[in-house]
Amino acid sequence: MLVQIKSNRSRNAWWRSPLVLRHAVMLFFFIFLLHVAYDHQVKGGGPRGTPSVEAYCPFGGLESLYHFLTTGGFIRRIEPSAMVLLAAVVGMTLLFSRGFCGWVCPFGSLQEWLGLLGRKALRKRYNPTGAWDRGLRYLKYVVLAVVIGLTWWTGALVFRDYDPFLAFFHLGAGIDELPWAYAILGVVLTGSLVIERFFCKYACPLGAVLGILGRLGITRIQRDAANCKGCNLCRVKCHAHVEFLPVTEIRDPECNHCLDCVAHCPKPNVLSVRGPKWRFSHPVYATLLIAGLFGTIWTSKLAGKWQTRPERVSYTNAAGKPDAESIRGWMTLAEIGSGYGIPLERLYREAGIPNRVAPATRLNRIGPEYNIEFEPETVRGIVQAFLAGKPEAPQPHGGGKPPHAGEGEEPEVRGFMTLNEIVLKTGVPREFFVRALQLPAGIDPRKPVREWMHDHGRSIQDLRDAVAAYRKGKR
Ligand code: SF4
Ligand code: SF4
Repeated sequence: MLVQIKSNRSRNAWWRSPLVLRHAVMLFFFIFLLHVAYDHQVKGGGPRGTPSVEAYCPFGGLESLYHFLTTGGFIRRIEPSAMVLLAAVVGMTLLFSRGFCGWVCPFGSLQEWLGLLGRKALRKRYNPTGAWDRGLRYLKYVVLAVVIGLTWWTGALVFRDYDPFLAFFHLGAGIDELPWAYAILGVVLTGSLVIERFFCKYACPLGAVLGILGRLGITRIQRDAANCKGCNLCRVKCHAHVEFLPVTEIRDPECNHCLDCVAHCPKPNVLSVRGPKWRFSHPVYATLLIAGLFGTIWTSKLAGKWQTRPERVSYTNAAGKPDAESIRGWMTLAEIGSGYGIPLERLYREAGIPNRVAPATRLNRIGPEYNIEFEPETVRGIVQAFLAGKPEAPQPHGGGKPPHAGEGEEPEVRGFMTLNEIVLKTGVPREFFVRALQLPAGIDPRKPVREWMHDHGRSIQDLRDAVAAYRKGKR
């Protein structure tokens, strides 16, 4: 299995270069994730749809880790597969250092390819070294601490709104859904043209974790000092500007095992990937890396733990009561009608949906497919009113738009949000909610409000009213 590397230069066929193999592996994972993203946009999510890219992001597992350890569940939008992938990536990093970043991560690959494009287009690359570059690299540890801290405090996926990886693979969903994430994506894509692996270097929170764990990894790039001619070409070719000459073993947390240094070293076998006892050829390294990843996934499948999307359609809250907040964009009109017992005619009438819209249409496809102005949020309001026993609202005039206040707008406060998340988003202090709604001291602010508000005789409208009252009082 483990073979001796004979010579970097003697293997003169281009296709035997570590670079070719690595880019082929990167391309495979990149295309796979593009396919996942496209399929999700076309077929939708939910139990009958296809997984979103978030199901394949190990960082989601890390964000959900505290929740998982304390409750056994996952924060909203995270599926068990993210936890399996986190375990796989942590295991891979302990064995193969940061090979995940150098060979697998599709967002890292995208940045690297943009860097190659930038090098061609701009001729001279601006890939800075020096004190401020070194200093800025600590930023990713700050991002990690803030993201994990806020996720723990809110019990919600706070990074989602700013995640450029998600924005890129959220094809066709529209910029309005993640405006900050798209703005950051623009900066990252532009930055990657001039600074190699711009996001990886300065801001990726997963890269920060893997950098720390990678220091414990048992495979390393090693330099044979006796045969090294000291040309320093390895450092010139290294995107991370790792220092080679003072050391014989690379322990830099920025090294992602891309093997560019190995490929460009003019002396055979001077640089190599080594474990405690053996030297690994690049095909063996790649094979072990990929086998580790897929091996963990298949093992979790056999154990019945691999789940990339919700198992069933649910219409109820944690207390088992029908709850309009359980409505998702991937639900069809027919499902909502039968699930909540609301007559379809009423749903169509109140939401201003033309009769030509088939009941089997998913909420988030009604607008694009039938070319009408329609917001899925409208249906949530109608079902909420229906469940509260309110009479049917008057019919809309002019059709297409329902007669609800705030129509077309996403409410700021939603039942799936936690109290801390609402505090963060609205700026209303937690104490104000407790006082205004006379909530008991024991409520968990990291649980979705829909799981406890009904037990205390409160509704989502009460929380929205509290926000409005606070803002009015401040004016
Ligand atoms: S640092 Fe982050 S974005 Fe870059 S390759 Fe690693 S995980 Fe991916
Ligand atoms: S030290 Fe070598 S393997 Fe590590 S990042 Fe630099 S070029 Fe890649």
